[in-house]
Amino acid sequence: MNAFTSNASLVLHASDPDWIPDNLEALIHFLQQTELAGKCFNKNDHRFFVGEKFLDHISFMGCSPNIKLEDQGGDGKFTFIRVSTSKTVSALTSKHSFAPHCPQCKKPEKNWREFLKDNQIKCSGCQQTADAWQYNWRKSAGFGRCFIEVTDIYPKEAVPQPSLLGSLEKEFNVQWAYFFYHA
Ligand SMILES: [Zn+2]
Repeated sequence: MNAFTSNASLVLHASDPDWIPDNLEALIHFLQQTELAGKCFNKNDHRFFVGEKFLDHISFMGCSPNIKLEDQGGDGKFTFIRVSTSKTVSALTSKHSFAPHCPQCKKPEKNWREFLKDNQIKCSGCQQTADAWQYNWRKSAGFGRCFIEVTDIYPKEAVPQPSLLGSLEKEFNVQWAYFFYHA
């Protein structure tokens, strides 16, 4: 799994967990063209300052969002955009992930940590095995090979605008979803 840079992030990913862009540069170009992302400040790790239209694409719940857009403390704790891809499907779960609900019987699987193997979970209620991403994690975990991370955002502090998810879908021909990673 990709090491996450922040202990609390809003993460966007394609609903199809196997999806990666044919060309990572095309995804980066899209993020910069829509001005969700701005200037790159770490080429190796694909990190970008937020763009001029960041607040048009990400909607904050409070009336005045308390976010830091620069590394004022020098500890790397500020809101930026990071793009990552992996060769295989990464399971981004955390200690704050909720018990996921089985797609067959809808029962929450409290022992998912024990049962999550090879990205599949066998439900202790109905005994059916399903891909982990078919379970309902209530936006507390995500599975994929390509993630767009918005760092230093706590669960439910902010959500992507439907228009952003829609334009990602239109551009890359795959549906998009989001979740909150909270270590
Ligand atoms: Zn079940």
